[in-house]
Amino acid sequence: MSLSFDLVPGTVRTSVQRRREILRDPGFVTHFSDHMASAQWSSQAGWTDSRVTNYEPWTMSPGSAVFHYAQEIFEGLKIYRHEDSSIWLFRPEMNARRMIRSAHRMDLPQLPEEDFLASVHALARVDHEWVPSGSEMSYYLRPFMIADESFLGVHSAKQARYAVVGGPAAPYLADGLTPVDIWVTTTYSRAGNGGTGAAKCGGNYASSLLVQREAATFGCSQVLFTDAADHEWVEELGGMNFFAVTADGMVVTPPTSGTILDGITRDSILTLAPALGLTPQVRPLSLSELIASILGGNIVEAFACGTAAVVTPIGRLLHTKGEEVETVALASPLGEATRAIRRALVDIQWGRADDVHGWMHQVVV
Ligand SMILES: *Cc1c(COP(=O)(O)O)cnc(C)c1O
Repeated sequence: MSLSFDLVPGTVRTSVQRRREILRDPGFVTHFSDHMASAQWSSQAGWTDSRVTNYEPWTMSPGSAVFHYAQEIFEGLKIYRHEDSSIWLFRPEMNARRMIRSAHRMDLPQLPEEDFLASVHALARVDHEWVPSGSEMSYYLRPFMIADESFLGVHSAKQARYAVVGGPAAPYLADGLTPVDIWVTTTYSRAGNGGTGAAKCGGNYASSLLVQREAATFGCSQVLFTDAADHEWVEELGGMNFFAVTADGMVVTPPTSGTILDGITRDSILTLAPALGLTPQVRPLSLSELIASILGGNIVEAFACGTAAVVTPIGRLLHTKGEEVETVALASPLGEATRAIRRALVDIQWGRADDVHGWMHQVVV
């Protein structure tokens, strides 16, 4: 039986005036909207207690499994307001399916695709007034799941909570078009073979923070990770996939194969590329090839991509070469291909271009 996420009676709403104030300058989800969707799971009863309530604190036992063994997974997707004021989701079934894969890897219960979609639609419907209008503005949804039984033994989840929270979001990185510098780490790894790199789990992010701080000391805002075994193969950033663009119009990204998160933005870009006169190429890309090709003029653009920041152009890569740090600048930091890809994607998301792939799902309010 599928779950229904009904609004419980008696919830309270932020005043219109205060909401407008927040929507004017929302930052990246610095305010959560009035409601949240949630459900409980136990190994005996399965999924129960699905509902939409006020966004409010939870009471949890300090012994809850998630606090001790990081049994947590999450998703991220946006609600886009179109010119005619209707609101839309972008490929939400991909998030639902990925959450099932993440749940499998982290031994958490799987929330059926239709229930994931019902929860997301329910919150979108109830809090539709929190979806901003205006270019590049959206409402960011954060579905997540934790194991919450109070038990200090290590075992697969016997009790779990699922919830969707969210709030209005301005572009994740300032204007989204200023090229960023990237620190290439060959010391730390994000994921190893057989590890959790393909799961969207909080632990992957926790382990990236120290490296992120190291990157900041070199003036870099993001980290590019290489493979854990040899630090020779380009993988992805802490929370975004990586693409390089060659002078002859290839858009190259490494295969996901277990250590790289299967990004929905990445997949969409691979699908959109041919119509833009670009050739998608999924193949291993070594760090030495990347550096040599940038220096030799064969790789001219590079960008990172993900739901939050969409497409972020890369200006320079910094990496250690012997004892030194070498800075390698892309020839066209905000090149034509990067701009065309970004434009094609955001035009579909904000309803300015034909949705030929059937990616947009309207939220009926
Ligand atoms: C979420 C995420 C991405 C981007 O995925 P999208 O589905 O495009 O938002 C890329 N890499 C990692 C590690 C992520 O967690």
